[in-house]
Amino acid sequence: MVNGRTRTCGLIGYPVEHTLSPVIHNFLAEQMGDNLVYVPFSVNRGLAGDAVRGAWALNLLGCNVTVPYKSEVIPYLAQLDPLAEQIGAVNTLVRSCNGFKGYNTDMPGLYRAMVQDQVAIEGERVLILGAGGVARAVAVLLAGKGASEVVILNRTIEKAEAIAEEVNTLARKALVRSLPLGEYDCLPAGERYLAIQATSVGMHPGVEDVIIDETEFYRKIHTGYDLIFNPADTRFMQLTRESGGRSFNGARMLLYQGIIAYELWTGHPVEEALAGKAYVRMLEAMKG
Ligand code: NAP
Repeated sequence: MVNGRTRTCGLIGYPVEHTLSPVIHNFLAEQMGDNLVYVPFSVNRGLAGDAVRGAWALNLLGCNVTVPYKSEVIPYLAQLDPLAEQIGAVNTLVRSCNGFKGYNTDMPGLYRAMVQDQVAIEGERVLILGAGGVARAVAVLLAGKGASEVVILNRTIEKAEAIAEEVNTLARKALVRSLPLGEYDCLPAGERYLAIQATSVGMHPGVEDVIIDETEFYRKIHTGYDLIFNPADTRFMQLTRESGGRSFNGARMLLYQGIIAYELWTGHPVEEALAGKAYVRMLEAMKG
């Protein structure tokens, strides 16, 4: 029940109408007995700073931040977690004594999802498809978790090159290299990779689209991890399986970025059994 002691968390973004975050957080609050509500806030372009200041003034416990404000909110924060600083994007604000501290829970969320899905990173050769904001964050994660080699394939090669250079500087070694999307045949024959699909190609409503449509490519993949969660089974995932690989979607990443944010706001760890129930609840809401 909402009463005078209820704490509020919210989502700053535009648009926010299709977000699943209220389903995750309000379910967790109910199950954990925390007096907390989570609401989406649709913030018009140019108002991200006002939104952060307003959230602070209204005593919000914390916020998630989504597209297009993940970098734009940074100047309005009192502190920045080192991982968020490396990635250059925040998706979670946590109230501290003098302002909000910004975190990135997307990548720890992806990591926790991969652990649950039993997809290893350490010692793995990894392909990243795409060179947008999320692909850059994935490259930082892979460098931090001991991947043995990372190749970024992207349509615009300059973007892949820029990420490779930045992440190699961070990692202090030549771990990441770039390839134009059409040149995957330059990868050594016989090697098989974990491939992380970090483009928007194949996302609803373009469900028939796929970033690479050649069987030869999928023969090089032992695991295809698509960060898209709508649809639940993308063409990229189907092609991976048809060539004998395992495939996963981005739904668990979405769940765990939320769970980690919830843990930061409340200080209460979410047990795996409850995470599983929240996952079922989220999938039901997705179908609805
Ligand atoms: P972004 O910055 O817009 O980057 C998009 C990337 O996709 C770019 O590399 C772009 O290539 C490539 N691309 C787009 N259309 C293409 C096409 N027709 N052909 C070839 N390449 C194309 O997006 P982002 O913010 O990094 O997000 C990427 C994806 O991550 C999103 O689609 C979303 O589904 C997923 N995501 C998932 C979660 C989760 O919780 N599961 C969270 C966040 C994001 P160019 O560089 O050549 O333009």
